[in-house]
Amino acid sequence: MSRILIVEDEQHLAGGLRFNLEAEGYTVDVAETGEAGLELVLASSPPIDVVVLDVMLPGIDGFTVVSEMRRAGHFIPTLMLTARGHADDVLKGFAAGADDYLTKPFELPILIARIRGLLRRREWLAASSWNTAPAEAPDTFAFGDKSVHFDVLELRVRQQVFPLTLMEANVLRYLIQHEGKPVSRKAMLEDVWGLHEDTDTRAIDNFIVRLRRYIEDDPSRPRHLLTVRGVGYRFLASPDPSR
Ligand code: CA
Repeated sequence: MSRILIVEDEQHLAGGLRFNLEAEGYTVDVAETGEAGLELVLASSPPIDVVVLDVMLPGIDGFTVVSEMRRAGHFIPTLMLTARGHADDVLKGFAAGADDYLTKPFELPILIARIRGLLRRREWLAASSWNTAPAEAPDTFAFGDKSVHFDVLELRVRQQVFPLTLMEANVLRYLIQHEGKPVSRKAMLEDVWGLHEDTDTRAIDNFIVRLRRYIEDDPSRPRHLLTVRGVGYRFLASPDPSR
Protein backbone atom coordinates (compact mmCIF):
# COMPACT_ATOMS: atom_id res chain seq x y z
CA MET A 1 0.00 0.00 0.00
CA SER A 2 1.51 3.29 -1.06
CA ARG A 3 1.91 5.97 1.55
CA ILE A 4 1.35 9.62 0.68
CA LEU A 5 2.31 12.63 2.75
CA ILE A 6 0.34 15.83 2.20
CA VAL A 7 2.03 19.00 3.45
CA GLU A 8 -0.69 21.63 3.31
CA ASP A 9 -1.76 24.26 5.83
CA GLU A 10 -5.26 24.79 4.40
CA GLN A 11 -7.10 22.31 6.60
CA HIS A 12 -10.12 22.14 4.36
CA LEU A 13 -8.05 21.23 1.32
CA ALA A 14 -5.83 18.80 3.25
CA GLY A 15 -8.88 17.07 4.74
CA GLY A 16 -10.53 16.72 1.34
CA LEU A 17 -7.35 15.31 -0.17
CA ARG A 18 -6.94 12.84 2.67
CA PHE A 19 -10.52 11.63 2.31
CA ASN A 20 -10.26 11.15 -1.45
CA LEU A 21 -6.80 9.59 -1.47
CA GLU A 22 -7.80 7.16 1.27
CA ALA A 23 -10.83 6.26 -0.84
CA GLU A 24 -8.34 5.44 -3.63
CA GLY A 25 -6.64 3.00 -1.26
CA TYR A 26 -3.63 5.09 -0.22
CA THR A 27 -2.36 5.51 3.31
CA VAL A 28 -2.29 9.25 3.97
CA ASP A 29 -0.39 11.44 6.43
CA VAL A 30 -1.05 15.16 6.71
CA ALA A 31 1.37 17.80 7.99
CA GLU A 32 0.25 21.41 8.37
CA THR A 33 3.72 22.95 8.37
CA GLY A 34 6.92 22.36 6.44
CA GLU A 35 8.74 21.53 9.66
CA ALA A 36 6.18 18.84 10.58
CA GLY A 37 6.34 17.49 7.02
CA LEU A 38 10.13 17.20 7.12
CA GLU A 39 9.95 15.43 10.48
CA LEU A 40 7.54 12.88 9.04
CA VAL A 41 9.73 12.28 5.99
CA LEU A 42 12.81 11.74 8.14
CA ALA A 43 11.08 9.55 10.74
CA SER A 44 8.48 7.59 8.79
CA SER A 45 8.44 3.86 8.90
CA PRO A 46 7.32 2.43 6.54
CA PRO A 47 8.76 5.18 4.37
CA ILE A 48 6.62 7.66 2.47
CA ASP A 49 6.25 6.92 -1.25
CA VAL A 50 5.08 10.30 -2.55
CA VAL A 51 5.00 13.80 -1.05
CA VAL A 52 2.37 16.34 -2.12
CA LEU A 53 3.85 19.64 -1.03
CA ASP A 54 2.27 23.08 -0.96
CA VAL A 55 4.62 26.00 -1.67
CA MET A 56 3.03 28.57 0.63
CA LEU A 57 3.28 27.30 4.19
CA PRO A 58 3.65 28.96 7.57
CA GLY A 59 7.28 28.77 8.70
CA ILE A 60 9.58 27.21 6.10
CA ASP A 61 8.08 27.09 2.60
CA GLY A 62 7.74 24.17 0.21
CA PHE A 63 10.96 24.98 -1.65
CA THR A 64 12.91 24.73 1.59
CA VAL A 65 11.18 21.47 2.51
CA VAL A 66 12.08 19.75 -0.75
CA SER A 67 15.66 21.02 -0.80
CA GLU A 68 16.14 19.95 2.84
CA MET A 69 14.74 16.51 1.99
CA ARG A 70 17.19 16.15 -0.91
CA ARG A 71 20.06 17.44 1.21
CA ALA A 72 19.26 14.82 3.86
CA GLY A 73 19.40 12.14 1.16
CA HIS A 74 15.65 11.53 0.80
CA PHE A 75 14.76 11.30 -2.87
CA ILE A 76 11.05 10.58 -2.43
CA PRO A 77 9.06 11.65 -5.51
CA THR A 78 7.64 15.07 -4.71
CA LEU A 79 4.82 16.96 -6.38
CA MET A 80 4.58 20.65 -5.58
CA LEU A 81 1.35 22.62 -5.46
CA THR A 82 2.03 26.07 -6.89
CA ALA A 83 -0.17 29.13 -7.27
CA ARG A 84 -1.51 29.94 -10.72
CA GLY A 85 0.40 32.64 -12.56
CA HIS A 86 3.62 32.02 -10.67
CA ALA A 87 5.75 30.43 -13.39
CA ASP A 88 8.86 31.27 -11.39
CA ASP A 89 7.61 29.01 -8.61
CA VAL A 90 7.58 26.06 -10.99
CA LEU A 91 11.20 26.60 -11.99
CA LYS A 92 12.17 27.28 -8.41
CA GLY A 93 10.44 24.04 -7.38
CA PHE A 94 12.33 21.98 -9.95
CA ALA A 95 15.55 23.69 -8.98
CA ALA A 96 14.90 22.77 -5.35
CA GLY A 97 14.45 19.12 -6.36
CA ALA A 98 10.73 18.65 -7.03
CA ASP A 99 9.72 15.97 -9.54
CA ASP A 100 6.43 17.40 -10.73
CA TYR A 101 4.01 20.21 -10.00
CA LEU A 102 0.36 21.07 -10.19
CA THR A 103 -1.16 24.55 -10.24
CA LYS A 104 -3.81 25.46 -7.68
CA PRO A 105 -6.76 25.18 -7.99
CA PHE A 106 -6.55 21.71 -9.52
CA GLU A 107 -8.95 18.92 -10.41
CA LEU A 108 -8.73 15.98 -8.04
CA PRO A 109 -8.57 13.32 -10.82
CA ILE A 110 -5.52 15.15 -12.24
CA LEU A 111 -3.76 15.07 -8.87
CA ILE A 112 -4.50 11.36 -8.51
CA ALA A 113 -3.22 10.72 -12.05
CA ARG A 114 0.00 12.62 -11.26
CA ILE A 115 0.50 10.66 -8.03
CA ARG A 116 0.00 7.40 -9.94
CA GLY A 117 2.51 8.63 -12.52
CA LEU A 118 5.13 9.30 -9.85
CA LEU A 119 4.54 5.89 -8.25
CA ARG A 120 4.69 4.17 -11.64
CA ARG A 121 7.95 5.84 -12.60
CA ARG A 122 9.39 4.81 -9.27
CA GLU A 123 8.35 1.22 -9.90
CA TRP A 124 9.76 1.46 -13.40
CA LEU A 125 13.11 2.48 -12.00
CA ALA A 126 12.99 -0.26 -9.37
CA ALA A 127 11.99 -2.87 -11.97
CA SER A 128 14.74 -1.83 -14.35
CA SER A 129 17.33 -2.79 -11.74
CA TRP A 130 16.25 -6.40 -12.39
CA ASN A 131 17.08 -5.96 -16.06
CA THR A 132 13.67 -6.73 -17.48
CA ALA A 133 12.96 -5.73 -21.07
CA PRO A 134 16.06 -5.83 -23.30
CA ALA A 135 14.83 -2.76 -25.21
CA GLU A 136 15.19 -0.65 -22.09
CA ALA A 137 18.38 1.10 -21.22
CA PRO A 138 20.40 -0.92 -18.71
CA ASP A 139 20.15 0.03 -15.06
CA THR A 140 23.72 1.29 -15.22
CA PHE A 141 25.07 3.34 -18.08
CA ALA A 142 28.72 4.27 -18.32
CA PHE A 143 30.19 6.95 -20.55
CA GLY A 144 33.70 8.32 -20.30
CA ASP A 145 34.65 8.45 -16.62
CA LYS A 146 30.99 8.81 -15.61
CA SER A 147 28.28 6.30 -14.84
CA VAL A 148 24.59 6.58 -14.12
CA HIS A 149 23.15 4.10 -11.64
CA PHE A 150 19.42 4.17 -12.20
CA ASP A 151 18.67 1.57 -9.55
CA VAL A 152 20.05 3.74 -6.74
CA LEU A 153 19.47 7.11 -8.48
CA GLU A 154 23.10 8.12 -8.53
CA LEU A 155 25.45 9.66 -10.99
CA ARG A 156 29.08 8.85 -10.33
CA VAL A 157 31.83 11.01 -11.74
CA ARG A 158 35.26 9.73 -10.83
CA GLN A 159 35.26 9.81 -7.00
CA GLN A 160 32.18 12.00 -6.75
CA VAL A 161 28.63 10.77 -6.26
CA PHE A 162 25.66 12.94 -7.21
CA PRO A 163 22.25 11.78 -5.98
CA LEU A 164 19.59 12.27 -8.66
CA THR A 165 15.94 13.05 -8.22
CA LEU A 166 13.53 10.65 -9.88
CA MET A 167 12.82 13.18 -12.59
CA GLU A 168 16.49 13.90 -13.24
CA ALA A 169 17.07 10.17 -13.62
CA ASN A 170 14.09 9.84 -15.96
CA VAL A 171 15.26 12.75 -18.13
CA LEU A 172 18.75 11.29 -18.31
CA ARG A 173 17.45 7.81 -19.10
CA TYR A 174 15.29 9.20 -21.88
CA LEU A 175 18.21 11.05 -23.46
CA ILE A 176 20.45 7.99 -23.13
CA GLN A 177 17.79 5.82 -24.77
CA HIS A 178 17.89 8.21 -27.74
CA GLU A 179 21.68 8.48 -27.74
CA GLY A 180 22.99 10.42 -30.74
CA LYS A 181 19.54 11.60 -31.88
CA PRO A 182 17.96 15.00 -31.35
CA VAL A 183 15.11 14.87 -28.85
CA SER A 184 12.50 17.63 -28.85
CA ARG A 185 11.27 19.31 -25.71
CA LYS A 186 7.74 18.33 -26.69
CA ALA A 187 8.70 14.65 -26.96
CA MET A 188 10.35 14.83 -23.56
CA LEU A 189 7.24 16.45 -22.06
CA GLU A 190 5.06 13.73 -23.53
CA ASP A 191 7.25 10.73 -22.80
CA VAL A 192 8.99 11.64 -19.55
CA TRP A 193 6.37 13.82 -17.91
CA GLY A 194 3.33 12.19 -19.51
CA LEU A 195 2.09 15.22 -21.49
CA HIS A 196 1.13 17.82 -19.03
CA GLU A 197 -0.16 20.60 -21.18
CA ASP A 198 0.32 23.15 -18.44
CA THR A 199 3.98 22.25 -18.02
CA ASP A 200 6.33 24.98 -19.08
CA THR A 201 8.99 23.65 -21.48
CA ARG A 202 11.50 25.83 -19.63
CA ALA A 203 11.30 23.26 -16.84
CA ILE A 204 13.18 20.90 -19.16
CA ASP A 205 15.91 23.46 -19.80
CA ASN A 206 16.29 23.73 -16.06
CA PHE A 207 16.85 19.97 -15.77
CA ILE A 208 19.43 20.10 -18.53
CA VAL A 209 21.30 22.90 -16.75
CA ARG A 210 21.42 20.76 -13.61
CA LEU A 211 22.44 17.59 -15.44
CA ARG A 212 25.21 19.47 -17.21
CA ARG A 213 26.58 20.56 -13.86
CA TYR A 214 27.00 16.89 -13.00
CA ILE A 215 28.20 15.37 -16.24
CA GLU A 216 30.07 18.09 -18.08
CA ASP A 217 33.65 19.01 -17.21
CA ASP A 218 32.81 22.52 -18.37
CA PRO A 219 29.00 23.02 -18.17
CA SER A 220 29.23 26.18 -20.31
CA ARG A 221 30.77 24.12 -23.12
CA PRO A 222 28.79 20.87 -23.04
CA ARG A 223 30.14 17.88 -24.95
CA HIS A 224 27.69 15.18 -23.85
CA LEU A 225 24.42 17.07 -23.47
CA LEU A 226 24.18 19.24 -26.55
CA THR A 227 21.60 21.86 -27.40
CA VAL A 228 19.95 21.33 -30.79
CA ARG A 229 18.86 24.78 -31.79
CA GLY A 230 15.10 25.10 -32.34
CA VAL A 231 14.50 21.47 -31.35
CA GLY A 232 15.79 20.41 -27.98
CA TYR A 233 18.71 18.29 -26.92
CA ARG A 234 21.00 15.47 -27.97
CA PHE A 235 23.01 13.16 -25.76
CA LEU A 236 26.39 11.91 -26.94
CA ALA A 237 28.07 9.16 -24.93
CA SER A 238 31.37 9.55 -26.82
CA PRO A 239 31.76 13.12 -28.05
CA ASP A 240 33.85 13.80 -31.11
CA PRO A 241 37.30 14.56 -29.61
CA SER A 242 38.04 17.07 -32.36
CA ARG A 243 35.18 19.35 -31.23
CA1 CA B 1 -0.73 27.09 1.74
